Parts: sequence; C-alpha cells; structure tokens
Amino acid sequence: MRAAGLAVTGALTTAAGGACRPIGQSPASSSPLAMSHTPKAADWSALGRSLAGRLIRPDDTDYTRARKNFNPRFDMIRPAGIAYCESPHDVAECLNFVRRYGLSVTPRCGGHSYTGASLGAGLVIDVSPMSSIRVDSPSGTATIGAGSRLVDVYDRLTSAGVSIPAGSCPTVGISGLTLGGGLGVVSRAHGVLSDNLRAIELVTADGRKLSCDARNNSDLFWACRGGGGATFGVATSFTFATHPASRIVVFFLNWPWSTARSVIDAWQHWAPFAPDALWSNLHILDGQAQAAPTLQIGGTYLGAQEDAVRLIEGLKARIGAEPSSQVIETTAYEHAMMIEAGCTTRSTAQCHLPGGLPGRTPVGQESREPEYAASHIFTRPMTGAAIDTILAAVRRRGGLAGGGQGGIAFDALGGAVNRVAPDATAFVHRDGLFNGQFTTTWTTAAPADAIRAQQSWLRSFHTAMKPYASGQAYQNYIDAGLSNWKQAYFGANYPKLLKVKNRYDPDRVFHSPQTVGVSG
Ligand SMILES: Cc1cc2nc3c(=O)[nH]c(=O)nc-3n(C[C@H](O)[C@H](O)[C@H](O)COP(=O)(O)OP(=O)(O)OC[C@H]3O[C@@H](n4cnc5c(N)ncnc54)[C@H](O)[C@@H]3O)c2cc1C
Repeated sequence: MRAAGLAVTGALTTAAGGACRPIGQSPASSSPLAMSHTPKAADWSALGRSLAGRLIRPDDTDYTRARKNFNPRFDMIRPAGIAYCESPHDVAECLNFVRRYGLSVTPRCGGHSYTGASLGAGLVIDVSPMSSIRVDSPSGTATIGAGSRLVDVYDRLTSAGVSIPAGSCPTVGISGLTLGGGLGVVSRAHGVLSDNLRAIELVTADGRKLSCDARNNSDLFWACRGGGGATFGVATSFTFATHPASRIVVFFLNWPWSTARSVIDAWQHWAPFAPDALWSNLHILDGQAQAAPTLQIGGTYLGAQEDAVRLIEGLKARIGAEPSSQVIETTAYEHAMMIEAGCTTRSTAQCHLPGGLPGRTPVGQESREPEYAASHIFTRPMTGAAIDTILAAVRRRGGLAGGGQGGIAFDALGGAVNRVAPDATAFVHRDGLFNGQFTTTWTTAAPADAIRAQQSWLRSFHTAMKPYASGQAYQNYIDAGLSNWKQAYFGANYPKLLKVKNRYDPDRVFHSPQTVGVSG
C-alpha cells in the first residue's frame, strides 16, 4: 500500500510513492423525491445547453474517463450524466433538473470518498471546473474554488507565503475534506481544516445560492464545518483564514519490527502531548512479499530544527532504542507538502490523477488505488493488550493473498484540535489523542475471494480494537460497515445537524446511506 492519507513512506529526497489510499459500498441510486417522469434524450440535451460547463452522457467518448473516481472499487457505477459545473448557476440548473425528474444527485470534487459516495446512478454534479484560488493578503484569507485539489491549493498558497492545515494526499478535493472536518499535517498547530473556514458559498437543493458565515446563515455555516459532504447543498467556494508558511521541519524514523511494542507505547504517550508545533503519525503495516512488517513515525515541526531534534530525542529515550533509519530536514513549506504528497519528482500538474477534465489533455501521473478502510478515534492510551492485538493483526495481514498492504495508521490529535468546544462546529471530535485508520489495499488483478478475505481481516481487526477506542469514528473516513454511524461521526451534534438538514433539504434531495437525515 502506498502511504496513508496523513503520511508517506521513504526518504525525504526520493519520490515516496504517493500519500494516497482509500474503500466502500454502492451509493444510493434513486432519489426519495417522487419520480415525475424519466428525462428523455432531448431533456438531457436541454440541460447540457443550459450549462456553461460540459455535460457528459454515457454515449460520450469521455464518459469512461469521467466516471472514474480515485478508488477503482466503484468503477461499476454508471451515472446517467456527469455535469462539469463552471459556476453556481450551472449547479442550480442541475439541481432544478434533478428535482424536476426525481433523479438522484451526487456532488463530486476529488472523488476520494471511501464509499464511492460521490458517484451515483443519477446526475453527478462535478465541481472541478470551479478551481480558482485567490489569496487576499490584507485580510489573511484565501478563497478557494470548490473543485480545487490539495496539490494546487498548496502550490498557490505557498507561492504567496501562506497555507492552510489540509491533508497530505495531493489529489484529495477541498470540498469533501473541508465538509467532513479535515485532518492535516499541521492540525495540532492550526486545528482541523474546517476550524479555519471563514465563509462558504453553496447552492441548496432548491437552487438558492447562499453565502454562509458567522453572521449569515450561521446555522448552515456551523453544519458545513464537519457535517459531511453532500448533505446541505453543493459548495461552490470556501474562504479560509491562512497561516504564514515559509519553512518547516519534516521527519521520518523507521524502526525494526522487534521494537514495535515500545515504539507504539512511547509514541502514544508522546505525540498527542507534544507542543502544538509538532504533528506526527505512526504507520504499522504488514511487510509486502513476506518481509517483516514496517513501522514508521513521520511528522512535521513548525519551528527550529534543533527543537524538533530535542523532542525526537525525548521519544527515542522513551523507546529505549535507535531507529534503523531516520531523516530530519528543514525545507521550504511547498517542498514539504510535495514530500508529504509523495510527489517530489513530479510537477504540480503531474501530481494529479490521470483523468483530468474532459476535453483537456490529461497530464496527471498519480495512480488510482483499490482500498478498504475504517477508523476509531482513541481518547485514552491503548493498553498492552490493545498493542498485542495490533501486532497480531498486522502479522496476520502479511499472510493474506491479493497483494497490496494493510495495517493501521495513527494520526496524532490534541493541540489546537482539542481546544475548540465540541459543539462550536459540527466537528464533534475534540477529546481525541489520536485517530487510528485501518486500511487494506490490493492489486487490480486480485481475485474476488482474496479481496473478501482482506476486507474481513480488516473488519475483525477493527472490531477487536473497539474495546480500546472511544466509539467515535472520523466522518471523512466514511465506513459503510459502521452500524452506529450517527453517534460515531456526530455524537451530541446530531440533533442540531438534523434540524439544519430539515430546514435546508426537507425533501432529502441529498441522501446516501450515511447522510444526516437518512434513517438507519
Ligand atoms: C488517498 C486518500 C488520502 C486521504 N487523506 C486524508 C487526509 O490527509 N486528511 C483527511 O482528513 N482525510 C483524508 N482522506 C479522506 C478524505 O478527506 C475524504 O475521502 C474526503 O471526503 C475526500 O474529498 P473529495 O472531495 O476528494 O471526495 P469526493 O468523493 O468528491 O467527495 C466526498 C463527499 O463529499 C461530497 N462532495 C464533494 N464535493 C462537494 C461539494 N462541492 N459540495 C457538497 N458536497 C460535496 C461528495 O458527494 C461525497 O459525499 C483521504 C482519502 C483518501 C482516499
């Protein structure tokens, strides 16, 4: 498996192979709206003519390319249409169309949903063409089009000497990431991404274009900071507070498997309690091709390298061993984000998925990846028994067929993330020490029974860790196998989210198996 969302494997100076990986289940295929009549070819053509952007239909030569998301698991989903919206007006036209014909609608940005929630059988509203990025230095903000991908966001913002606390995967979309919270590589210093949101523009199910901030439509503004994608409307732009970004320390420490117990234990007592400037993660993955499992601590530090080194020495003292290899380096912020993205040998343009916008020459060289994942948020340190469970599960994964890689990736929380009240925004998770992401990937040639075995391995690993976790799960690591998702993703914020849903989308135009307001 390539390194998980918030991390990379490999040395700083090499292309670390991409910071991406993902999961899922088929999204909803029909709308709860009463079907008035099926749109005819002429109706679709009329929709196409009303848009400034392009409408792709199944008979279009670009259709196959257009319908592919990041995770090939969902390649069997065949939308009736994919509308590349250039403006809020285009979005409103699409929403009027789906309401008129009772079609299902799914907004899409980066297409990284773990459950394929940005694909459906009806109309996909793809916001990718709305990708302008404007930095406003006097106000300390940046307005980012809803179709922007993280690699472009970092590129544009850092060229103006600022950044936002987003994630590491270059191809993840700003929309899905922000609407579900957004954990990033400097989140302990600046909070989750949605904590930095100052305003959002969106088109609601009835086609209204609304501007939301702390004063205007404040209930919607509250809900859009963690309430999840495709729930209250289609976002068309986000305005964030920015932070100065010039140089940053990045580090990676690899450990021999024999030290696994003490590395896990030392990390969990160190990472969430470190100064805010230090963010880190811990990856424990099965060894590919019969090799020993791998153990890597990576991270960033916003400050002087000698301070980072002092903190890392403290970690080593706790572990009582030296890493088998380590890199600690201070580098330009934009280069650090390319390291985290695993994109150091590629240009910004190449650090995209190969599809690109239909009609334009595709230049992206990032690869898609089949993956299945789940998460637990931990609010207390794990016991020795929990650590033993991890070690046994990762070893077991090594014996499975189907290729790829699996294990668990912990991302440190605490710091600024936990200084926001749980009800201040819809993002409720404010007492976590770390988030644990369970992942397994396989090769495209893997047989169905091997894929099933990998997924069942992951589910049993996730279940075995439940007694040690908090019951919370991260809504952006959306998990179709989670039965109590309302509580796990939204906790005590769910009733307020439901009120907002009832106010802005009473007909449930936006619905998928784990959207606020759906039953189950
Ligand atoms: C490889 C990989 C790396 C990741 N790394 C991180 C990470 O570092 N940090 C982190 O927090 N998460 C990470 N994630 C999880 C990621 O935050 C979610 O998958 C997120 O939903 C992706 O957003 P997207 O726009 O790319 O996906 P999409 O699939 O396009 O959208 C996700 C959801 O949002 C909806 N949506 C999309 N656009 C809009 C819009 N404009 N308005 C309203 N709804 C919309 C979709 O319908 C869908 O329900 C990662 C995921 C993957 C696969």
